[in-house]
Amino acid sequence: ILSAEAYRRRHEITVTGDEVPPPLTSFEDTGFPSEILREVHNAGFSAPTPIQAQSWPIALQSRDIVAIAKTGSGKTLGYLIPGFMHLRRCRNDAQLGPTVLVLSPTRELATQIQDEAVKFGKSSRISCTCLYGGAPKGPQLKELDRGADIVVATPGRLNDILEMRRISLSQVSYLVLDEADRMLDMGFEPQIRKIVKEVPARRQTLMYTATWPKEVRKIAADLLVNPVQVNIGNVD
Ligand code: ADP
Ligand code: MG
Repeated sequence: ILSAEAYRRRHEITVTGDEVPPPLTSFEDTGFPSEILREVHNAGFSAPTPIQAQSWPIALQSRDIVAIAKTGSGKTLGYLIPGFMHLRRCRNDAQLGPTVLVLSPTRELATQIQDEAVKFGKSSRISCTCLYGGAPKGPQLKELDRGADIVVATPGRLNDILEMRRISLSQVSYLVLDEADRMLDMGFEPQIRKIVKEVPARRQTLMYTATWPKEVRKIAADLLVNPVQVNIGNVD
């Protein structure tokens, strides 16, 4: 068994923040309920990835996080499973609007996130719907009207649906900005800021990014409260 320090050194993890909890290096250490552990084992995963190991215990403390890690490092379950745990603690009536909101830059990524949420969340009876552009709004609105615990959305389409007053974000208490650098590169900053204005200030906010340029730092400083920063590898 590696100490927290040795595990972080081996996996090039650096953390910045007060009293950062040690990484959860095995699934058994996570305290996740058996139905979630079962899905993880069914998927054939043998251990948390470094970003999961270090960000799960922080997210489970309901703290804000900025995670900087390259693609393919397992960030999706890094925020989804703590999102499921959040839902188990405080699930609202899905008819009033989602409790968990994930913003993602593209339709393709958003549907991948939804697939992962459905696969790993179905045993916890978690519902998830996806909103993205380039497709008619009708079916998405119909899905939305059925109620969803988790909404995964691209900023453009979500903003359109907000302007139509067909979704309320007043119940959101767990907000994820996935691939934040890419969303900013795509020019979504105004939409993101409008969306976040509709989300209550009392919330947990998690930001995932592959790079850490000035623009991303700025939006992180504006939207997150005293976040713990987790870097994997030598990205800065
Ligand atoms: P990222 O968002 O960092 O690019 P993803 O969340 O898309 O990465 O994960 C990349 C792949 O790794 C996916 O196929 C995912 O199912 C898989 N994966 C996630 N967690 C683990 C794990 N603990 N062990 C093995 N594979 C995993
Ligand atoms: Mg990803």
